[in-house]
Order: sequence, then structure tokens, then C-alpha cells
Amino acid sequence: MEIRRNKVVAIEYTLKDDQGTVVDRSGKTPLYYLHGHSNIVTGLEEALEGHKPGDSIEVSVPPEKGYGSYDPKLISNMPISRLPEGSKPMKGQKYNIQMGNQTRTATITKVRINDVEIDTNHVLADKTLHFSVRVRQVREATKGELEHRHAHAPHSDH
Ligand code: ZN
Repeated sequence: MEIRRNKVVAIEYTLKDDQGTVVDRSGKTPLYYLHGHSNIVTGLEEALEGHKPGDSIEVSVPPEKGYGSYDPKLISNMPISRLPEGSKPMKGQKYNIQMGNQTRTATITKVRINDVEIDTNHVLADKTLHFSVRVRQVREATKGELEHRHAHAPHSDH
């Protein structure tokens, strides 16, 4: 079965940056995603279109089809009182914070007496993403998966 919109696809992948450093990879189990619903970055989704189980692809995804360009407006100040209770903020620490209806990872870039400077750009913003991918499985999505617009674990609709 070929990868098309509304198929659930299992992939094994390794993601490297321009320096060749591995920044992410699938673990013991492949990553399952629902094709055509932006579950994965656009550039990788486009490259996988039409492939079949067993295919291996190498693709370099530019930032505009990956995690976007770095936006200086996503640097802001936050009072220390808004951090989780008992936390001792340090430069480089990461927190999940709620921004509108989405959760983003905020990295502390400066610590002051009463507030911290946080950067909510994606850690891979501005980066070209070098993926090595092997397609393991392609199957029809279930009704539940199409309603939720993401892949589910076997025999589960939550
Ligand atoms: Zn679901």
C-alpha cells in the first residue's frame, strides 16, 4: 500500500542537524502518524508521499517546511512566580507552558531577580532537518483516527 492522505504510516527515522549530530530518532517502536494531517513536519510528509513499506529515503527539509524560522518576538519575560512551584530557574532549563490553546517548550535564556527571559522558539527553528527514514508499515486509518486526525495505538481509540 502506498502512502497517501488518510493512511496511517509507521516509520523509523533518524534526524540530524547540519553538523551531522543526531537530534532525534524513533525509539524501539516506530513512529505512527496519520498522513496528510500535519502530524509531522511538512517537508517530511511531502517526501514520504507515494512510498511503500520497505522504502528508505533521505531528505533534507529547509526550515520553512520544518520548524519555521527563528522569531525574535518569541522571546519574552515571565515573572518567576509563574514557574512551577519550588523551581530554581537556571539558564538553559526548559518548561512546558501554555500559550493560547497550545503547549510550547520555553527555554530560559536569562535569570533575573524577579523574572526570567524565556524563548519559546522551537529548538529546531531555523534548522535544516536531515532525515533518514525507513517506511515500516502503511495501513488504512480507522474511523476514530480520522476523527481525531492522528494515529492511535493498536486496538485503542483512547
Ligand atoms: Zn485520538
